This record gives sequence, C-alpha cells and structure tokens, in this order.
Amino acid sequence: MKNLLIIKILIFFGGCLTVTAQNSAVLKANDRLSPSPKGTVSIQGYLGQKLELCIQNGIMQKDYELYIKPFAVRNDDPSKWQGEFWGKWFTSAALAYGYQPSQKHLNLIQTATEGLMNTQTPQGRLSSYTKDFGDWDIWGRKYALLGLVAYYDQTGDKRALDAAARGLDDLIAVAGPGKQKLTETGLSLLEALSSNSVLEPVVLIYQRTGQQKYLDFANYIVEQWSLPNKYTARGMRLVEDALAGVDPIHISAPKGYEQMSCFEGLCELYRVTGNQKYLDAVVTFGHKVRETENMIVGSGSSGELWCNGAMRQTELLEQPMETCVTATWIKFCYQLLRLTGDPVWADEMEVTLYNALLGAMADDGNWWAYFSPLMGERMPSPLQVPSCNTSCCVANGPRGLLTVPGWSVMRSNDGPVINLYAQGEWKYALPEGNELVLNQNTDYPKTGEIELLISQKKSARYTISLRIPAWSKNTKVWVNGDLVEANASGYLQLGREWKDGDKVKLSLDMRGRVLKAPGNPNQMAVMRGPVVLALDSRFVKEKSYNLWLLHDGYNWKHDQSWKIDYALLEPVSSFPQEMYIDLNPVNPLPDGVWMAFEVPFLYRPTHFVNHKKESLVMCDYASAGNQYSTENLFRVWMPQPLFLNYLYPKDSWRVLYQKDGDRPKFPHKH
Ligand SMILES: [Zn+2]
Repeated sequence: MKNLLIIKILIFFGGCLTVTAQNSAVLKANDRLSPSPKGTVSIQGYLGQKLELCIQNGIMQKDYELYIKPFAVRNDDPSKWQGEFWGKWFTSAALAYGYQPSQKHLNLIQTATEGLMNTQTPQGRLSSYTKDFGDWDIWGRKYALLGLVAYYDQTGDKRALDAAARGLDDLIAVAGPGKQKLTETGLSLLEALSSNSVLEPVVLIYQRTGQQKYLDFANYIVEQWSLPNKYTARGMRLVEDALAGVDPIHISAPKGYEQMSCFEGLCELYRVTGNQKYLDAVVTFGHKVRETENMIVGSGSSGELWCNGAMRQTELLEQPMETCVTATWIKFCYQLLRLTGDPVWADEMEVTLYNALLGAMADDGNWWAYFSPLMGERMPSPLQVPSCNTSCCVANGPRGLLTVPGWSVMRSNDGPVINLYAQGEWKYALPEGNELVLNQNTDYPKTGEIELLISQKKSARYTISLRIPAWSKNTKVWVNGDLVEANASGYLQLGREWKDGDKVKLSLDMRGRVLKAPGNPNQMAVMRGPVVLALDSRFVKEKSYNLWLLHDGYNWKHDQSWKIDYALLEPVSSFPQEMYIDLNPVNPLPDGVWMAFEVPFLYRPTHFVNHKKESLVMCDYASAGNQYSTENLFRVWMPQPLFLNYLYPKDSWRVLYQKDGDRPKFPHKH
C-alpha cells in the first residue's frame, strides 16, 4: 500500500534528500529543525576520529548473534536480563549506516534484522521471556521495536515495519485496555518507568503506519500515568509533575535514564497530537534537569538515580553520571532541539558530547565506562551480562555519539542551521536541483577560529544560521571579509543571496572561564569553550602547599615602594558567578591527551607579601584519567585554597564498583 505512505517533504527545501519514513498526514506539529539526511555528512578531525573508532572498533565488532539469541531461546530467570541489547546496539548500528551508508554497513544491519525477525512467533511476539511481563520484558521489547523501526527508516524495507507492527499488536493484546496495566509491570521500585517507555516505539509505529489503534494505545498508556496503580497510589503523574516544575528527583521514581526515556516517547506523542501540554511538560522537565541534576560536564545521576547533582557535584559521589543517562540526555536534548529550534539544547549537547560522553568512551572506541566521576579515577564498565558480552552503558554510549552527524547541521524552513563546528563536509539540498556543499575548516574547540566555505552550482537566497554558544561573549563573524554584528548568543541568521565561493569566518570567545559550583561557591572549575578542564596526575603531582586559582576577579598588584607583588584575597562571594582566566596551550602533549593548558594559580607564602604566580597544567576532561588506572587520577572542582597534597581521591574505583572482588578491566584488552 504505497499510497498510505506519503513521503514527508519538508516545506521549503531539504526535502529533496530527506526521505523520512513518517506519514505526514498524522503529524499535528512540525519540527522546527530536521536532522541531516543519510550520507550527507562527513566529519573529520577529533570528532571524526572518535566517530570512526566508535563505529569500526565498537559497533562493527560486536557479536550481535549474542543479542538475538535471548529472543530465540527465551528465559524467565530474572538474572537473564538481556532483551535490551539487540535494539540498543541496532539503533546505533542504524545511525552508523545513516552516517556511512556503505554496502558493508547495509549488510550488517540487514543480517541483524533478519536474525531478529526470525525469532518472532506466529502471534508476532518478540520477547526474551517465555512469560509476559517479566521484570525487563517490556523494556526489551521496546528496544526490539525501536531497532525494527530504525531499520525501516534507513532502508524503507516494509517487512521490518510489519514485524514491528505485529510485535506491537501482540503487546496490545496482552497490555491494552482491560488487560494487564503497563503501570504495574517491570520493577515496582522503578514505578514501571521502564515498561512505560515503550511509548516511544508505539508512537513511531503509528507515525509510519497511520493506524489509529496505535495512537489509541499510546494515548491509553499516557492516560494510565495519571491513575493510581498498585505500585504508586499517586500514579506516575509524569505529565502533571513535569508541568508543575517538580524537580526530576521527585517525579515518579528518580531513575534518570528510564524517566527521560518516557519523556522521549512524550515528544513523539506531541508530534502526532499537537497537544501543547506535552511539549510544555518536556521542555519544563528538560530545564529542570539542567538546573537541578546536571553537573558541569553535562550529565547527572548517582547510582543511576537523580541525586540533586547540580548542588552535590563537588562531593565524591558514588557511581556518578551513568553513561546511559549521558547518552539519553543527548537524545532527549536532540528531541527538544528538533521540536523547539531553541539552541539552548544544542549548547547542552555540545558540553555533554565533549565532556561526559567522550570521557566515558575508551580510547579505542570498543568499550565504555559505566560511571564518570569528577574526581578520582576512571574505571571501565564491568561486564554486566556475560552471556551477551556487554553492559547497559557499553550499548548506550554509541547511541549518544552517533546522533552527532544528525544534529551537526540541521534543516530549517529557511536554510541550514549549523549547530556544531568541526572539520568536515555537509551536503544540503537546495530547490531546483541545486545543492550547497558546505565545508568547515577548523580545529575548534582547540581554537575558536572556524571557516565555512560555500560551494554550489547556482546562487540561491537562503539563511545560514550559526549557533553562537551562550558562553561566547565576544564573537566575531565575517562574510566574505565584511564584519557582521554578532554579539549575542543563540542563532545568528545570515540571510542573503549565497553564491559559489562565499566564505564565512567565525571567531568564538575561547577565554578560560572560572565557574563557581552551584552548591559550594568555594569550589571552582575551569572551562574553555564547551570543554571542562581537569587536573591530571600525569601533569600535576601532589605537593605540600596551597594554591588559589588566579582569575581576573583578583586584583593583582605591584607595590612600587615595597617592591612586592600581591593579590588582595577577597571573599569568594564577592566574585561574579563567572570570571576569566589566562590559559596558555601546552605542547607537545603526551599520547592520548587532546588538549592541555597552563593555568595560573596564586602562591601565598605569607598573608600579604611575596605572592607569586605558579602555573599548573590542566587538560580536557575527556582526556583526564583516560588511562583508566588506579595511578591516573584527576580532579575537576578545586576548593579555594587548593591543598596540593590532597588533590586526588585514591582507589576511588571502590565507590564506582561497590562489590567485592577485583577492579573491573576492559574485557577485550589483556
Ligand atoms: Zn547504563
């Protein structure tokens, strides 16, 4: 039934290359921004290498047969928690194919899809359990459905969509109105959040089939959230509490990853209902996560739960920032960026990408950390599920990273929206068969200098939107050498007749910034652009004296008559929230360190005289501690003064891995 499936053509352009699988007739709210289509993005430089490592050494090397087997064998043993891995891995593999649509990638996702579809029962059941509603049954089915939809979106193969629809029919038969309530399935301590996150593929399948029964089921799921159930007398109340601005830690169960996954489903439901309440709920929730939970590196949670992380991030938290939370936060922000076009979400994603996410990926791209601390040491994720040779975060990290090509340059009604600055090439369809080829020439964020080169067959009038990050207070932009007014954050819109050979130059404000911790103004950290800096034991050893960060809030003086240098120590509370600090790049760098800077500190041998400047080297957070050993220690927040003999918590793997036994190792390294 080809005519059922109207290919969505975006209103102005971008549509020529965009074949999204949504049935436009069911959409009641249009996205402000759309992802870069398949095969139109090539990212090089630092980010390009990270993507390559993640794809070649991570995604492509995984034995997906191990993820299919649980669906074929089926097992109700509660310890056999393995239904999520096929779909998690597959959705990252599908994104990898979208980024690099080679025959090799196509073969991989094709075979993996066939393998899963072969396990489907004649009734359509796709589950790793024999009985319905085991603790992680619906959660695993959700990922299977997401994987099948992702395959359909990449290839247009209707069999995968049919398989997903039949899997959903089977679920509705046992969990539809009058049957088992999804709000009373899965772990009760998670208040059924995991099961209810199935909302996302339910709506995605509705968007692609247009069948009313799937929209009815989606609405039914969300109605149940408001009703009391045997897990919670209040009901889950996700929409009501989000709308009321309740802190995420007090919404339903505080399981960060599953909670955000339910809100991802609500974003999809907004697209097909146009119900403003849903959009308001997800946006309010997103801002609450930013304000109350996210730490400086762009992720949150402790022990997988929301923890008031913004206020508590200077503490030695146990199990901070689960990589599943980090990747899901990026995916959630991506939804909000598409829906609202508000660049605040791209600012968030950029910080999370360069810090929390890439800090959690092992240098070879094959494995990931479970948790990412702000001080101490990094530790690889333990092998959670040996039968699948993987772990929740190892499967999720790539799903966050592989979103990058999609949101790097997006489509709007007016023209390209550039969210990410990186060396690379983007193709952008223009009306009448014209095409813009956009080349970025930059080593950003090592420097703030970015050159955009426009190649196109014919001149065309459109708007290039440049994301000016909120931290860039002093931005300069030139079009063909002419300076353009650009001193504000958000999207700078350059609308004009663009022609072949046009050049845009951008200079972002890369001054070092000293930030005070929200929960403890006596603790400070240094950022440069989107990158958080950290002390690392490869550069800074412990010593027995104090130093103070020497930012521009200090009044550095030279007394002519006494011939002394000194800085008046003012109370920290008198400093503004953000101060600048001089940073000098360090070269050359040890292997595996992306960037490092000499950072000025103040040494005070006595209260008032003989003060000296002393530099400590700090590197980017993702490189800090990336030897993943008990010897390679690091620290982000620095109390003032900073006692150098107490820089790094030792053996902190024991707060990351609170079990008896040895420190977890990379399973693939010897
Ligand atoms: Zn995880």
